Amino acid sequence: MEYTWPDFVTECNQCENCELARSRKNVVIYRGSIEAPVMFVGEGPGASEDEQGQPFVGQAGRLLSLLLDAYGFTPKDYHICNIVKCRPPENRVPTKEEARACMPLLAKQIRFAKPKIIVLLGSTAYKYFLTPQEPISKARGIWIEKSKFLIMPTFHPAFILRNNNQRILLWRDIGLVRSKMEELDLISPLHNEPEMPSGRG
Ligand code: SF4
Repeated sequence: MEYTWPDFVTECNQCENCELARSRKNVVIYRGSIEAPVMFVGEGPGASEDEQGQPFVGQAGRLLSLLLDAYGFTPKDYHICNIVKCRPPENRVPTKEEARACMPLLAKQIRFAKPKIIVLLGSTAYKYFLTPQEPISKARGIWIEKSKFLIMPTFHPAFILRNNNQRILLWRDIGLVRSKMEELDLISPLHNEPEMPSGRG
């Protein structure tokens, strides 16, 4: 029998493959569109995400949305998710074992989302998704071609909230994603030059 998206959601909701299952309120799967040309992968759900069952809905998520909106992205253009689907206690970084336990679900999710572009938000996603040689500060904004995907690491919006002087770099990287999507005919071109918003979302 065909394995469908609802089957996948059920599998995620029932998953107890790592310690994080014990303390979660919700399994946090995605926001945006199931199938989308670009996938953003963050670290893991925080308190707001755990509460609401959606990724990137807290302060960092609002900043990400602010930047995406300014570039004219709409939810049909992206699929946003995380390396782990359950909240690590005290917002700690997911362990290698937790990331490894959750990776098969992310691999299935990628098969449903069918992205052409994958953006890794922050050093945790970068570290667990690729086997990087360089720190994210050096790798960000550079395209990596791997297994038919175009992958770009960039900063996590939570890092930008703490280091607002780096906001321009995340803004530029999202601009590179936008340009690449236009080049590949995955999104219609913008008519006006977007301006970086200064708010926190
Ligand atoms: S984080 Fe992933 S592997 Fe761990 S329990 Fe949640 S869904 Fe399962």
